[in-house]
Amino acid sequence: MKFEMTKCNQCGSPMLEGLDVCPSCGRPQSRMGKAGPPTPRMLLAIVLSAAVLFLFNWFKSSAPQTGQISSPPAASLSSR
Ligand SMILES: [Zn+2]
Repeated sequence: MKFEMTKCNQCGSPMLEGLDVCPSCGRPQSRMGKAGPPTPRMLLAIVLSAAVLFLFNWFKSSAPQTGQISSPPAASLSSR
């Protein structure tokens, strides 16, 4: 039985290929530079973060319309 060895992305110490956490430093391995199909969990995280960013931007762009109506200083400035 042969174990594939790789290097830890964080500390560079040799570790087993299949491990997700480095036994030396205990950090999770990011496999961005590794060639291969991304895991479904990684895809889900990317989609979720993109959706949150999109929703946040959409909410921010639609917020000033309601904010201008309920802000008295803007009205007093324009009537000066
Ligand atoms: Zn490490």
